[in-house]
Amino acid sequence: MSDTNWAGNYTYRAGTLHRPSSVEQVRELVAGASRMRVLGSRHSFTDIADSSALLSLDGLPADVVVDHAAGTVSCSGGLRYGELAEALAVEGVALANLASLPHISVAGAVATATHGSGDANGNLATAVAGLELVTASGGTLTASRGDPDLEGLVVGLGALGAVTRVTLDVEPAYQVRQRTFEGLAWASLFEHLDAVTSAGYSVSMFTRWGGEVEQVWVKTRVTEEPERVRDDLFGAVPATVDRHPILGIDPVNCTPQLGVAGRWSDRLPHFRMGFTPSAGDELQSEYHLPRRHAVAALESLRALAGVVRPVLQVSELRTVAADRLWMSPQYDQDTLAVHFTWLPDRAGVERALVEVEAALAPFGARPHWGKLFLAGAAAIAPLYPRLPDFAGLVRRLDPRGVFANAWLHQRVLGGPGP
Ligand SMILES: Cc1cc2nc3c(=O)[nH]c(=O)nc-3n(C[C@H](O)[C@H](O)[C@H](O)COP(=O)(O)OP(=O)(O)OC[C@H]3O[C@@H](n4cnc5c(N)ncnc54)[C@H](O)[C@@H]3O)c2cc1C
Repeated sequence: MSDTNWAGNYTYRAGTLHRPSSVEQVRELVAGASRMRVLGSRHSFTDIADSSALLSLDGLPADVVVDHAAGTVSCSGGLRYGELAEALAVEGVALANLASLPHISVAGAVATATHGSGDANGNLATAVAGLELVTASGGTLTASRGDPDLEGLVVGLGALGAVTRVTLDVEPAYQVRQRTFEGLAWASLFEHLDAVTSAGYSVSMFTRWGGEVEQVWVKTRVTEEPERVRDDLFGAVPATVDRHPILGIDPVNCTPQLGVAGRWSDRLPHFRMGFTPSAGDELQSEYHLPRRHAVAALESLRALAGVVRPVLQVSELRTVAADRLWMSPQYDQDTLAVHFTWLPDRAGVERALVEVEAALAPFGARPHWGKLFLAGAAAIAPLYPRLPDFAGLVRRLDPRGVFANAWLHQRVLGGPGP
């Protein structure tokens, strides 16, 4: 096998890619493997998913089952959110949140604590009510909310087994409107941060670290009350046309704005499902900051504008609510997520990341597991109080080290990798 991730910046070294069509085949393949990882939809930017052999679950039946009484849906882990949303629409139910792109697999997103935005919204992994995974022995483990290990299993970083089924919370289907505001002064943001991030159900800000935050995308749930249309967001003005997060790029692939109500799944992501992105000419990094440090950390980053801008396409700021998932960047803390969409210049990006990580270290920034970062296991350990418990779970469920890989040891567990 010689193939790359979505961004084309990483070529998997695995010699084999298996595509089982049943869970029974997954069990046989895992039991017979010395090393193996599950590959999701390849949207991570590093070797996190690599191993000598890979397993894709996209050949398993989607098998979407909505349990209206329990308020859950269960489906194959390899299903993409956009496909799941179509099945949920038929049943009249919805998820609480989505990431910027609907093309990402559910199990792959959950494994790295992928998130959307919203002060009261947890990351996508917090919607997990239960998991079924094939562990290194070839046996099947199921766990539900309330079971002692679930909070360790959910953000599993691919290290605990092959997640064959995921059960997620659902709620009655709802509609969302999004409106974009332009030109928010940094001083206004700093003075009114809480009011800005709570101006909608989900709020995303886009900036290139110049004189202002160029855009604020405010996504609001439609209720029976008439919409209170704002003509000003602390000095930022409503856009009169649809926008792309990067000013100047045609918004044709973006979800509709201008307050036009639409299905939750057609407004919460920034990009349309119908548009299939080709290999992206971009790299990404993201750091989760304890919310109480948000303003100080943003001030530090603004001082790095000259370092960051030469390799930057755009930055996005989002908020994510605290949770109890051991390896979640939101473990025990509300966070402000600072994201960087970079130009595809790995060396230049890594030079910028040296300075970004140094500037954010005093604030206890936790990097996004699926994106580019430089910190190694020694720097990560103090950020995750439940890391020793997670390492214990890895040893217990995978004593043969089947799901171990270089990334896991370099970035998380430390010690000699495979
Ligand atoms: C264009 C783009 C937009 C993005 N937007 C966002 C965003 O809005 N918010 C955000 O937080 N992140 C975002 N990301 C990052 C992305 O959500 C994460 O990298 C996510 O982990 C990718 O999921 P995947 O299915 O592609 O998994 P992969 O990248 O294929 O794998 C990631 C990890 O999950 C494991 N894994 C995958 N499937 C399984 C399974 N079935 N069982 C066990 N382990 C499994 C892999 O082994 C690996 O460790 C974005 C990435 C891109 C390229």
